[in-house]
Amino acid sequence: MKEGIHPQYNKVQVTCACGETFESGSTRKEIRVEICSKCHPFFTGKQRIVDSGGQVDKFKKRLEGK
Ligand SMILES: [Zn+2]
Repeated sequence: MKEGIHPQYNKVQVTCACGETFESGSTRKEIRVEICSKCHPFFTGKQRIVDSGGQVDKFKKRLEGK
């Protein structure tokens, strides 16, 4: 691999909203993420319903409205 062709690839500290930090490689100097492997439901095994609460409420209201 010749030098100068690719943008500078640094080790950066990735900071997650849950407080977890880990190193990753990126051309950016700093990365902030809202979810990481430590708090992602897929990795933690915890089920988290995203954005479906409002739809359930709408469904209930539709049922009650009749
Ligand atoms: Zn996290």
